[in-house]
Amino acid sequence: MTLPPGLYVVATPIGNMKDMTTRAVETLASVDCIAAEDTRHTRRLLQHFGISKPLVSLHDHNEREKSAMLVNRISEGQSIALVSDAGTPLISDPGYFLVKSLRESGCLVSPIPGPCALIAALSASGLPNDRFAFEGFLPAKSVGRKAVLMQLLNEARTLIFYESPHRILDTLNDFYQVFGGDRTMVIGRELTKTFETVLTGSIEFVLQCVAEDANQQKGEFVILVQGAEAKSQEGGEEVGLNKDVLLRALLKEVPVKTASRIAAEVTGLSKNELYERALILQGKRNDRI
Ligand code: SAM
Repeated sequence: MTLPPGLYVVATPIGNMKDMTTRAVETLASVDCIAAEDTRHTRRLLQHFGISKPLVSLHDHNEREKSAMLVNRISEGQSIALVSDAGTPLISDPGYFLVKSLRESGCLVSPIPGPCALIAALSASGLPNDRFAFEGFLPAKSVGRKAVLMQLLNEARTLIFYESPHRILDTLNDFYQVFGGDRTMVIGRELTKTFETVLTGSIEFVLQCVAEDANQQKGEFVILVQGAEAKSQEGGEEVGLNKDVLLRALLKEVPVKTASRIAAEVTGLSKNELYERALILQGKRNDRI
């Protein structure tokens, strides 16, 4: 098959080789070269499908310099495929800068769709999927993670995150502290692989299951959380219910002034009112309400 010059963004399996699409195989077999996140990993994939092609490494640390070279090659008439280690390139993976540069240069960029962990997890989650927000990986440190979660406290759409095995338990603990234990959470673990599990229940239940079973802490994870209830007409009322949860979580990490400022930004409530409330929670003022 002869392909027109351009970049072909090719999705590859997230664990199960049988999920490789016919078009993905045909495209990889037809391009002039393949830009890959990890060339050794991609070579194994190509071997599995009996394909032999020149590879160029393109990862987070060299994407800018490699993009210029790839844009040139495509402008000169080459067809190039972009793959990542698993799933759809650019989704929490390299490729954004390259695709943007090619679009700006007026070159062809064509998707060859296929597996994607967040879509696989959402499709099997049982959570509302008409509107959702993909947040990728949360920050590695708990303080940063909680700050992001606090900003998402009132998001009504289903929330989707990626997480790695060495942080899963800490991250679930942070969810519990910021969101409370009641919302529905789903964890898609090792999707499409031998030990695939989809765990569903309240945040409290899911946290307990993962904490008590070391096997549930292994592998690759997609975390999905039910969105916040719709806001009341009065506005801010639903936030008010969570105001103390939010302040308590912040007060564990930052001084009271910073906590009330962040809480005000997140909730839209008055900074002074939140400052007073924070002092009450700390036992430094009497609760006269
Ligand atoms: N581009 C990929 C995609 O389309 O899903 C995601 C790449 S990102 C670097 C890797 C993360 O995706 C993992 O840490 C995990 O959170 C999630 N992931 C990838 N494969 C998975 C699987 N089989 N089951 C569950 N989560 C997976």
